[in-house]
Amino acid sequence: MIQNNLEKIKSKIPFGVTLIAVSKTYSSSVIQKAYELGIRDFGENKVQELEQKYPELPKDIQWHLIGHLQSNKVKFIAPYIHLIHTVDSLKLLIEINKQALKNNRSISVLLQFYIAKEETKFGLNLQEAQEILESQEFKTLHNIKVCGIMGMASFIDDIELIRNEFKSLRKIFSFIKEAYFQNDSAFKEISMGMSGDYITALEEGSTMVRIGTLLFGNR
Ligand SMILES: *Cc1c(COP(=O)(O)O)cnc(C)c1O
Repeated sequence: MIQNNLEKIKSKIPFGVTLIAVSKTYSSSVIQKAYELGIRDFGENKVQELEQKYPELPKDIQWHLIGHLQSNKVKFIAPYIHLIHTVDSLKLLIEINKQALKNNRSISVLLQFYIAKEETKFGLNLQEAQEILESQEFKTLHNIKVCGIMGMASFIDDIELIRNEFKSLRKIFSFIKEAYFQNDSAFKEISMGMSGDYITALEEGSTMVRIGTLLFGNR
């Protein structure tokens, strides 16, 4: 079943866009099956769950942290995490940098933006992001790599509202790219789109879609 789903999804994703298989709540054996079908990028939203699965699965998996991350948990995933999508404070960036340094590596991150109309708890607005990017402290963080931005649209059926939220994220991306990362080829990712809205997200310029239920079935 995963294979059929994967083929359907892949046929809709343009070359160069990363499909992240969101494996939260699915077992390591299900993840292993998806791995055997060729998937290498997996997304988890909880550090504890990722910590359980990581040792059980192949080491060439690229793990994406897509849920809210508390500073005191960074140390657990710092040795191996591929990309943290959910950076929403300078404090968190400082801690990621510190743990990256300890592990003698650089950690890639995305800045999470709040774009939904409804109450969701996490994510920056443009002004907060600018304050971070313009701070003296940010300039000293040599072991993090800011690769782009991430956002979640509202959980509703109104596709035009969702489209507008994705459009606003795309605009934020262009603004930040222009203002702070013009000559930095690593800043190129817009992580947006889930099972219910990834087609719209792709139409609006997504470079990373995070898909769980459409691939693995209902949780
Ligand atoms: C769960 C989750 C997804 C995937 O959701 P599906 O609807 O199962 O595709 C994507 N992004 C984040 C941040 C999530 O928590």
